[in-house]
Amino acid sequence: MDTDVIVIGAGLAGLQCARRLQRNGHRVTVLEAGDAVGGRVRTDLIEGFRCDRGFQVLNPAYPAVQDWIDIGSLGLQAFGVGAVIRTSTTTATLAHPLRHPQHALSTLRSRHTPPSDLLAFARWIAPTLRQSATGPRPAQDQTLHDSFEEAGLTGRLRRDVLDTFLAGVLADSTGESSANYVRLLVRYFALGAPGLPRGGMQALPEQMETWLHEPVRLNTSARDLRHSGDGVQVSTDAGPLRARAAVVAVGPQDIHELTGQPALPTHGLTTWWFRAPELPQPGPFLMLDASRRGGGPAGPIWNTAVVSQAAPSYAPEGQHLIQATTLLDRPDGLAEEAAVRRDLERLYQGSTADWELLTHHLVEHTLPVQHPPLLQARPQQLGDRVLIAGDHRDHGSIQGALVSGDQAAQSLTRLLAG
Ligand SMILES: Cc1cc2nc3c(=O)[nH]c(=O)nc-3n(C[C@H](O)[C@H](O)[C@H](O)COP(=O)(O)OP(=O)(O)OC[C@H]3O[C@@H](n4cnc5c(N)ncnc54)[C@H](O)[C@@H]3O)c2cc1C
Repeated sequence: MDTDVIVIGAGLAGLQCARRLQRNGHRVTVLEAGDAVGGRVRTDLIEGFRCDRGFQVLNPAYPAVQDWIDIGSLGLQAFGVGAVIRTSTTTATLAHPLRHPQHALSTLRSRHTPPSDLLAFARWIAPTLRQSATGPRPAQDQTLHDSFEEAGLTGRLRRDVLDTFLAGVLADSTGESSANYVRLLVRYFALGAPGLPRGGMQALPEQMETWLHEPVRLNTSARDLRHSGDGVQVSTDAGPLRARAAVVAVGPQDIHELTGQPALPTHGLTTWWFRAPELPQPGPFLMLDASRRGGGPAGPIWNTAVVSQAAPSYAPEGQHLIQATTLLDRPDGLAEEAAVRRDLERLYQGSTADWELLTHHLVEHTLPVQHPPLLQARPQQLGDRVLIAGDHRDHGSIQGALVSGDQAAQSLTRLLAG
């Protein structure tokens, strides 16, 4: 045998799996098709700007992050817990009243937060606040849309804020996602102040890589995986590798090739990254567009932020980094730069002529489609030597990916001992 366990994929799930296996006393070899670790968590450094491959944030309230990540050394730069809401005539900042007391009064008096909606929201989130984050998940689930309707959450808080915010988080504007999945994410948003590491989101998987005894084998695609004798064999361009067992920790769209299991559907988005010499809007908040009659965005952009206001390390001093997100499940999700600029000019109420487009990332497979019911996390076992891990085996998030990787390692350790 070349090693005890081969982990295929160095995203967050694969890295946590490898680390746990190592701690359990196994020799581990990690294969990664890409040129760096991180999978969906990568950062491009462009002219001193940190442009994550798709805007995302790290929530320090995730239990898996608290338990397994050295958050302190990442130097998390927090976003405001709230949002700026743009309508065709108004701009309002809604924020967590305890974290941002200066916005408490205006938040509670805002026309976007009528008391009946706040009560309905409390009704909607209550079941999740009562249950433990990692405990069993309620069997009853429904779509996000139906759960809002059932809770009576039908007013401006939903139309102007929640639907738009959540569509950006889920890369899904249909309302068909599992309500329990969304409640879980909202619970974490309520408990933590998500932010960006000083070195970019990729600093997270890079930190995890430093804990591995054997460096991840980059640019090494697993082409074929088969049971062989009392172990498994993985073919790569550099030749075959043999091990007692393997964990397939590739993204949901890639599992078919190695396992024969059906590829899983995903949601996608596009993030546009611009540099600006002047600050278009102060404050560390995400901006949501509620300008369309009946709620929601009037153009292709679902959310935008001056990222460097929350995370100064993302831009050279004196310059500003702006992200804008469009959703691929909408006809305008593949908008051209000109349309995105027009929308930004409307939202920030100023010209973007002196803004420079740094890059844009089209992330087709942002998150696995997560229809109800949201099931209890479990790695999938193929035969007695192969497990499948990844966010698609738990729930689509950093938390879900880490937990899935960890559980696969623990299950495999039991299998190998048996
Ligand atoms: C734009 C965007 C925004 C997001 N926003 C958030 C957010 O704000 N908060 C949050 O919690 N989560 C967010 N997420 C989700 C989170 O990033 C993912 O859930 C998580 O990173 C998935 O990790 P994973 O290890 O399961 O899969 P992946 O990251 O997809 O890792 C799979 C790895 O397997 C490798 N691989 C594939 N095939 C092979 C092969 N044959 N051989 C070798 N290697 C292979 C791939 O190259 C990849 O590195 C976001 C994701 C994206 C893309």
